[in-house]
Amino acid sequence: MRTAISGLDLTRARTLADALRMVRDEHRTPIAGATDLYVALNFGTLKPSLLVDIWGIDDLRGISVNGDTLVIGALTTYTDAIKSPHVATHLPMLADASRLVGGPQIQNRGTIGGNIANASPAGDSLPVFAAVDAVVVLQSVDSERRVPLQDFYTGYRASVMRPDELIVAIEVPPVDGKQWFRKVGTRAAQAISKIVVAGVRGETPRIAYGSVAPTVVRARETERVLANGGSIDDASAMLEREITPIDDLRSTADYRRRVSVNLLRRFWSDTGP
Ligand SMILES: Cc1cc2nc3c(=O)[nH]c(=O)nc-3n(C[C@H](O)[C@H](O)[C@H](O)COP(=O)(O)OP(=O)(O)OC[C@H]3O[C@@H](n4cnc5c(N)ncnc54)[C@H](O)[C@@H]3O)c2cc1C
Repeated sequence: MRTAISGLDLTRARTLADALRMVRDEHRTPIAGATDLYVALNFGTLKPSLLVDIWGIDDLRGISVNGDTLVIGALTTYTDAIKSPHVATHLPMLADASRLVGGPQIQNRGTIGGNIANASPAGDSLPVFAAVDAVVVLQSVDSERRVPLQDFYTGYRASVMRPDELIVAIEVPPVDGKQWFRKVGTRAAQAISKIVVAGVRGETPRIAYGSVAPTVVRARETERVLANGGSIDDASAMLEREITPIDDLRSTADYRRRVSVNLLRRFWSDTGP
């Protein structure tokens, strides 16, 4: 594979304020773990020549609980999430998802903020955050804003994040109910998802899918059927109408639809009373 290092102007930010100033004034693209960005550079799908390395900004690391909100710093790696007692207590399905991302090398370098910013519909953490109504915290030199994950994506690999903003954290409100995560890929490890789903079975069921639409989606009509006491057969029929998978190099629309329904049924039986 071609190496893309030459010709890049990469500088390292020591503080968040530095990084924010550089993305605004110098129009630099942030680079965190580089696991997506470097692939994109090599394939020629991304052509930034000005980069700012944010990996060393410790303010963007760490997982904490603030009141009853789980706060996950943007530079949190999958390995951090797997090891975190806060994640184990509040959002165990994020640890489940993290264990299935790439292999240990990717888990050590890949960040949650990068997964969200990269905006792939196959990103494994996205359904987890969509199912729990997480909020993306965006910061720029002048302001900070909080965007619910469900409003963050505007289309395929597109989001409301501006070039002068960085994701600084993800906030997860308290989650009430049993959490459930499944990923279906070509292999058990090192595989991009053909289908990825996260669910919470509480008073109101919440189900989010990746890889069945241009962005991560909540299956809201399906959730409504289940919340109103509908049968799993009715919910499955609704899900088939609700999702819009496509044929691509990883899978077919028909396969994705059938597996999505099978996973819905599995979610419901695994989390039942
Ligand atoms: C071999 C391999 C296997 C993989 N397997 C999986 C998998 O199983 N599941 C999966 O979901 N992903 C997988 N990935 C993708 C990847 O590891 C994740 O998406 C990772 O979380 C991206 O984080 P990063 O820090 O490496 O982002 P980077 O590559 O550094 O950046 C990705 C994008 O996000 C932007 N960005 C990064 N951080 C921020 C921030 N804080 N604020 C604003 N923008 C930011 C960058 O500018 C860039 O556009 C795999 C990648 C590889 C190479």
